[in-house]
Parts: sequence; structure tokens; C-alpha cells
Amino acid sequence: MGVIHVAAAVVLLLGLYGLFLLAKPYRTCRWCKKGSFLARLAGRGRCWRCHGHKLTRRWGAWHVHKAKLSLRQAWDERGDD
Ligand SMILES: [Zn+2]
Repeated sequence: MGVIHVAAAVVLLLGLYGLFLLAKPYRTCRWCKKGSFLARLAGRGRCWRCHGHKLTRRWGAWHVHKAKLSLRQAWDERGDD
């Protein structure tokens, strides 16, 4: 397996992960877990990570979200010519 194959596999996996993020951008907040030391540190009812929503974006979901927004903007701003 050559470098090209590895690169192609990585691009493919990133693409699949991007689609996955589009479908399910959120996951249960790991900082809210019962008995979590960090959750207790955050304390006071609200979690610093999810602000009490119990859901956080997956890693990379924010970038996928921004990419989607810019793609949509590009689509909206396409010329009529
Ligand atoms: Zn949380």
C-alpha cells in the first residue's frame, strides 16, 4: 500500500466522518457523568462544557457546521449569469 492509497483512505474516512457529524453532531456530555471529578469541579448545577444541556458537539462538528454554512452562503450568493 503506497502513500497515495493511505492519503485516499484518510480523505475517504474524513468525508464519512463529516457526513456522520452532519447527521449526529451531538453526543452526551462526558463532563456531566455522575461522579465525574470534573463535573464536581464545574459544580453549581451547570456544567462548564454543555451549560446543563447534557449534549456537546462531537470533535470536528463545529468545523463541519461552519463549512456547511459557508457552502450554503456560496450557494445563496451564486450569480444569475
Ligand atoms: Zn455537561
